[in-house]
Amino acid sequence: MNEFESLGLNESLVKAVTEMGFENPSAIQSKAIPVLLSGTTDFVGLAQTGTGKTAAFGLPLLQLIDASKKYPQALIICPTRELCLQICNDIRDFKKHLPHIVAEPVYGGASIVMQIRALKKGAHIVVATPGRLIDMIERKAIDLEKVKYVVLDEADEMLNMGFRDDIDFVLKNTVQRESIWLFSATMPPEVRNISKNFMSSPKEVTVGKKNTGNANISHQYFIAPANARYETLRRLVDFNPDIYGIVFTRTKADAQEITERLSKEGYDVEAIHGDLTQQQRDKVMQRFRSKNLQILIATDVAARGIDVDGITHVINYELPDDMEVYTHRSGRTARAGKSGICISICNSRESYKIKQLERMVNAQFARLDIPSGKDVCRKQFFHFMDKLMSADISSGSYETYTADLSKKFEDVSKEDVLKRIAALEFDHFLKYYENADDLNVKIDRDRRTPMNNSRDRNDKKNYGRDGGYSKLFINVGSKDGFFKGNFMQFILDESNLNKEVLGRIDLREMNTWVEVDKSAASKMIKSLDGKTHNGRAIRMNEADGGNYNRSDKTKRKRISVHERNK
Ligand code: ADP
Ligand code: MG
Repeated sequence: MNEFESLGLNESLVKAVTEMGFENPSAIQSKAIPVLLSGTTDFVGLAQTGTGKTAAFGLPLLQLIDASKKYPQALIICPTRELCLQICNDIRDFKKHLPHIVAEPVYGGASIVMQIRALKKGAHIVVATPGRLIDMIERKAIDLEKVKYVVLDEADEMLNMGFRDDIDFVLKNTVQRESIWLFSATMPPEVRNISKNFMSSPKEVTVGKKNTGNANISHQYFIAPANARYETLRRLVDFNPDIYGIVFTRTKADAQEITERLSKEGYDVEAIHGDLTQQQRDKVMQRFRSKNLQILIATDVAARGIDVDGITHVINYELPDDMEVYTHRSGRTARAGKSGICISICNSRESYKIKQLERMVNAQFARLDIPSGKDVCRKQFFHFMDKLMSADISSGSYETYTADLSKKFEDVSKEDVLKRIAALEFDHFLKYYENADDLNVKIDRDRRTPMNNSRDRNDKKNYGRDGGYSKLFINVGSKDGFFKGNFMQFILDESNLNKEVLGRIDLREMNTWVEVDKSAASKMIKSLDGKTHNGRAIRMNEADGGNYNRSDKTKRKRISVHERNK
């Protein structure tokens, strides 16, 4: 008996997954599917990315749907539109032999009218991002009345992104709900709260160790001077000629800039970030998925949850501020049992972050030297020669030319021919790297401070964002009717900044502390300080006048107390 069948799945579903190449259920699938098939048990599934969670909920959901009733019976909520489309596509694959079940995606950035029209035709399963879903509910365009199953996928991410109130709203408005199925890579207190507030004695299943990374990922980091970040990236890409990877940046501006520079220099790259239209993003993803694009430059929000097979490298152009984000980024590689590399480009002051990451993913990070120009050339050269040797010459009619060729090259040695080929291919490359700098920052490993590197020291002045976030204080909070989502909207609208400048938001009853990218902090203060909101004068200022280091919990506490007593 097929193992999927013995979990209780019906023939059509077993057939579909078999055709998809799934031989055996993954651990989370084996544990979740039998429980979920009951339909009435609340469920919490904790498993790292790439463990097959989509099928773990998608398959039992399809089996529970009554195709003859043409209204939404299941709602899957996930953080981003990319993920929404991906889940919907997966579900459509799973239901290949259940043609009467309809699954529709609902997400922002595309025509709501079309989506409403699609739903009206009678969708059984709706896969939605929170924002658009609320919009649909408010327009009464979706009927949640008879929804029996609500799935929260990547619950930790959704809460990180400030969707808590939206999720609460949806859960409160699915009155005939029979169960909630929550999936998450981690279990922060906010996720725990959802289970406390909305679930009744949920069955909780953990696969692998909580909070640990995927053992198939090897973690590496390079310490580079901040103004040589780009150069380091370029070198790493050149050093890995077969790379098929995603480079993560913290801001849209970085994603854009790196993409422009790399393309100008002839690399096969495109950016994906929140400023692109949905169509543009789909197009980029299409190209990347089909491997017509070697490197994708992405911001976290745009790339979250993306499942593309065979990614060899994930590169952190900068370390994320939120350590959890690292797990999500690195989880884009080493999927479905394959191995992969996650590279971080750091500065010399970030060693402590590496230590934290090592603890979090429970793996050692290898510090490697940035390849020298010579290393890169050598690597490229032999890579090319390997390609030359493995070129398929069996099918062309090359034989016709052999006689003439031998004659033409009669007086030229084999080495000479190879050199000439190499020159054609590498001339520009060799020249570029001929006098390339050594990019490695010299570190006195005992004191862990940079030595003899004026470039690095100068950078600290010039490269604001490298210092991280400024922590700003603002005298509004939940009593002013704010929750995270509308607070973010408010400060961003007022200051005309985009979401990516924001770090953590600590919203209290009376006051809020918000981390803002250092380069954007003064603009935000200028735009908000002195304004009024609902008749109250807004005061916004830097909370501690200096860098705010998120990992320093005691410092944070002290600031809050100090501010509150003011
Ligand atoms: P997660 O949501 O846990 O990050 P996904 O559901 O996106 O993971 O699955 C990751 C990858 O593994 C997908 O490409 C999926 O097709 C594949 N996969 C899932 N289950 C199986 C299985 N039982 N056998 C083989 N591949 C699987
Ligand atoms: Mg997933």
